[in-house]
Amino acid sequence: MRVSVLGSGSRGNSILVDAGGTRILVDVGFGVRTIASRLAQLGCAPESIDAVVLTHEHVDHAQGALAACARWQWPLYATEGTLAALPNALVPVRMITHGKPWSVGDVRGASCQVPHDAADCAALVFEHLRTGERVGVALDVGHVPEQLPGFLSRLDLLVVESNHDCAQLQAGPYPWSLKQRILGAQGHLSNDDAAALVAACAHRGLRAVVLAHLSETNNSPSLAVSTMDKVLRGCGARATAARRGIVAAVQRQPIGPVSGRMGRAFGVGQLELSL
Ligand SMILES: [Zn+2]
Ligand SMILES: [Zn+2]
Repeated sequence: MRVSVLGSGSRGNSILVDAGGTRILVDVGFGVRTIASRLAQLGCAPESIDAVVLTHEHVDHAQGALAACARWQWPLYATEGTLAALPNALVPVRMITHGKPWSVGDVRGASCQVPHDAADCAALVFEHLRTGERVGVALDVGHVPEQLPGFLSRLDLLVVESNHDCAQLQAGPYPWSLKQRILGAQGHLSNDDAAALVAACAHRGLRAVVLAHLSETNNSPSLAVSTMDKVLRGCGARATAARRGIVAAVQRQPIGPVSGRMGRAFGVGQLELSL
């Protein structure tokens, strides 16, 4: 399974999970034209996508979902709470329930509720039915609930929110109320939070970590990567290997594909954790 990020940050998020014969788009936080052009940059025809799965209804995750699903006839998978928070639209919908797996082609999906100031925010795991390969996606997580590391266990690849550096956010230009929202229990994961989550679910088979939803004001790709790198070295990753297995997604352009099994693609290698 290969993962590409069409773009990620507070102005839009969309992630392509490509399982060979099955392609799933997680979140459609860009308009139809941007989605079409970023998919084209990744060499992916929109018609080849089998389903859209939404993590939650916030505009930076869902603003293009209904229009894109209508245009390309993509079925829309989301929890009842997320579907109820979206405007009504004539697109094919499939309701997902936490703890109950569902499938799209060769992929089995599962969701776990995470705390965030949305109707019902979901972390997701996609497992390839034939190879057993597992990809996790955890975006917009206010704090790590007890069940999340277990839900994200045995992954080959994890896409995880690494939103802000706490010191940079606190000293930065955001108004006090927005800082409180981001730092709060229903807000976003900091670089340190993301690293602690990855440390809690790290295992020998974890090959790559994609850092997502980085703030352009309160974070930088190098800071986010170095925070994760430090923690993964503590988990036994070899120094240079750790850097090769961590990649930061950005807002303005697609990155990937990153693979959990196939080794280096776009300079991303494998973590080689010695746990
Ligand atoms: Zn959100
Ligand atoms: Zn978001």
